[in-house]
Amino acid sequence: MPSWCASGRRFVDLHAHSAVSDGQFSPADVVAMADQLKLAAIALTDHDTVDGLAEARRSAAQFPDLRFAAGIEVSAEPPSGTLHILGLGIDAEAASLVDMLATLQKGRRERNPKIVAKLQALGLAITMDDVSAVAREAGGTDDIISRGHIAEALRRGGHVRDRQQAFDLYIAAGGPAYVGRQRLSPADSIAAIHAAGGLAFLAHPPQLKCDNNAQLDRIVHNLVEAGLDGIEAYCSDCTAEQTRHCIDLARQYELFLIGGSDFHGAVKPDVRMGHPRTPAAVIPDELADRLFR
Ligand code: AMP
Ligand code: MN
Ligand code: MN
Ligand code: MN
Repeated sequence: MPSWCASGRRFVDLHAHSAVSDGQFSPADVVAMADQLKLAAIALTDHDTVDGLAEARRSAAQFPDLRFAAGIEVSAEPPSGTLHILGLGIDAEAASLVDMLATLQKGRRERNPKIVAKLQALGLAITMDDVSAVAREAGGTDDIISRGHIAEALRRGGHVRDRQQAFDLYIAAGGPAYVGRQRLSPADSIAAIHAAGGLAFLAHPPQLKCDNNAQLDRIVHNLVEAGLDGIEAYCSDCTAEQTRHCIDLARQYELFLIGGSDFHGAVKPDVRMGHPRTPAAVIPDELADRLFR
């Protein structure tokens, strides 16, 4: 076991969301749950915001056996499917992050009313106030309104049976009320994370929706050229075969390996914090020094 993990705890979860983006629980509760589950480390990685990190760090200070990584998950322009990049070990106050998050949050503010207008044009009674109420009730703000919140507003309005149906009928990519939002290139996203002192990891590689391993290899190759530091080889979307392939890619490109659940609480009921199991042993001390500060 690497020396950073002296607690005897064996597993980490370096990908979790709070209500500050689209998760269920407060940042402090996410950290407390990780301690209750006897994890060796937890990262808070809300979408496009660092607003939960101070609270999470204060909470982590109460748990001597739990290490905490300040993180973020940013959406970048995808070569295919969905490209999310985790920044871990970031300084939340770094100017590079403030600029990137302003761009990403503006992208959401511009997009969301367009989705709502398309839904209205389809005859559904829904307003931005309804959507905003969902985010606020969950403990969030108007800065990070996601399609998940819009889906919940549609459910509450009786327009769909559940959130998934809202995606399937209306707001999934390519759906009749879908509108894209502004993202940064992978290179710019990685550069902003680096400038904030963090390391950049490819999140949930299966969400790239590659047709084959060769396509994934090409994308990882390009991300490595753009400065990628590591890959989330253990993830809720990964089959055992995909995890093995990501481990091979990490060896080939000398990338760090990490893992995380993408915990959201009830918003993603099939995802459990701490699962799939990511061994603390995959995090060497040199990486731990960069992540847990
Ligand atoms: P946004 O970042 O605001 O565009 O919304 C992304 C959220 O929508 C994430 O929580 C995704 O898990 C969710 N999402 C995107 N596409 C789908 C889909 N086809 N089915 C269910 N959830 C989806
Ligand atoms: Mn999410
Ligand atoms: Mn993601
Ligand atoms: Mn996530």
